[in-house]
Amino acid sequence: ESTTVVVIGAGPAGLTVANLLRRCGIDCVVLERRARDHVEQRQRAGIVETRAVRMFHEWGLADQVFGGIPLSGFLEIRIAGESHLLSQDDGSEGPPARLCPQQVLVQNLLSTYVADGGDLRFEAADVSLHDLTGERATVRYRDPSGAARAIDCAFVAGCDGDHGVSRASIPDGVLTAYPFDHGIAWLTVLADAPPSVHPLMAVSPHGFAAHFARGPRASRFYLQCPPDDHPDAWPDDRVWSQLRARLGDPALVSGPITERELFQLRSIVHDPMDHGRLFLVGDAAHIVSPMGGKGMNLALYDAEVFAHAVSDFLHHNDDTGLRSYSPRCLRRVWNDQEFSHWLTQTLHDAGDHPLAGPFRHGLARARLDRLTTSPTAARAFAELMAGLA
Ligand code: FAD
Repeated sequence: ESTTVVVIGAGPAGLTVANLLRRCGIDCVVLERRARDHVEQRQRAGIVETRAVRMFHEWGLADQVFGGIPLSGFLEIRIAGESHLLSQDDGSEGPPARLCPQQVLVQNLLSTYVADGGDLRFEAADVSLHDLTGERATVRYRDPSGAARAIDCAFVAGCDGDHGVSRASIPDGVLTAYPFDHGIAWLTVLADAPPSVHPLMAVSPHGFAAHFARGPRASRFYLQCPPDDHPDAWPDDRVWSQLRARLGDPALVSGPITERELFQLRSIVHDPMDHGRLFLVGDAAHIVSPMGGKGMNLALYDAEVFAHAVSDFLHHNDDTGLRSYSPRCLRRVWNDQEFSHWLTQTLHDAGDHPLAGPFRHGLARARLDRLTTSPTAARAFAELMAGLA
């Protein structure tokens, strides 16, 4: 069996690559380890940034892929109970960011691709990559009946996340990893509780907290906690009382908690993002700490750069895009890492991050003061949130 591109993984990165390649008339096969249900129910990110919204418009896919509603236009930062609304107007023309839960984007990308006649194979087990530096690469796997299959291809798009097989197939010593650990954990809670009016991030002496919409009746909350904390130490009562204290909102409406997880705030960049015929796309190449909501949006960016590069090569015999894929993506990755790191430090240090100390606390308060009083600082922030800087 043979195709032009084998895409490993059907998350936001893989499904965007697959849809864009089809729009360019390029054959591909998507191999996904999990079942369709699992992929379609995985709840994570919730905001598609302005840049990515406009990208789907340019490809004629906006109507098919978006659910949700356009973003309110404001972000609320609450400092010790006092509210500051930051305009998300970045000064550019065109459609704004959207509140669109990741699973809705994934469901829509998936059905659009399949309706277009796209080839997507779920429950592909034991995927392995071969001959990545040869004339053609080969991807082997087992189909759900257990039969061994092999597909030869010109390119492999490694879209299988941080724990996937793609990056692990690159020989030792080829990539350099740049990891960073913030020394902070977040308890994340999904609840059937009314969403906040605006995306809300709160600084308080009890620690950082945030409240984001995940649909008309669902919310995702975040609570800063020590790295060695455990979700079992957070029964419902404690979650809601801490949220009320940190958000400075004694009237916060609670609801059934549907998911409760603890994760460490960490980032990593792998450089370069390609090896021979393999191109890493999205979380397979980089993880960005969640503050600023850039993880999924970076995956969408990489996907478009890759699709353009393959199209230029196949349709115009121009390999510039393929050769510049890694530096071009990494430029944006580092830009967004910097933004996320800055925002993470600022919003934790301004509260009571145990490692911050009084000097960093003072710096963080000064940054927030500038952000909430200088229109120029607020505009620069809006541009970064939009993904236009
Ligand atoms: P993934 O979504 O991880 O998809 C990888 C796919 O590959 C999966 O379907 C997986 O099953 C499949 N796969 C893995 N291994 C194999 C294999 N060996 N063979 C075949 N298939 C394989 N980002 C934001 O922008 N904003 C947010 O608010 C935000 N919040 C988040 C909250 C949480 C709790 C988490 C965990 C993440 C959050 N992120 C957020 C990050 C965002 O979810 C990721 O950046 C995004 O999912 C990356 O997409 P991806 O397609 O690269 O990888």
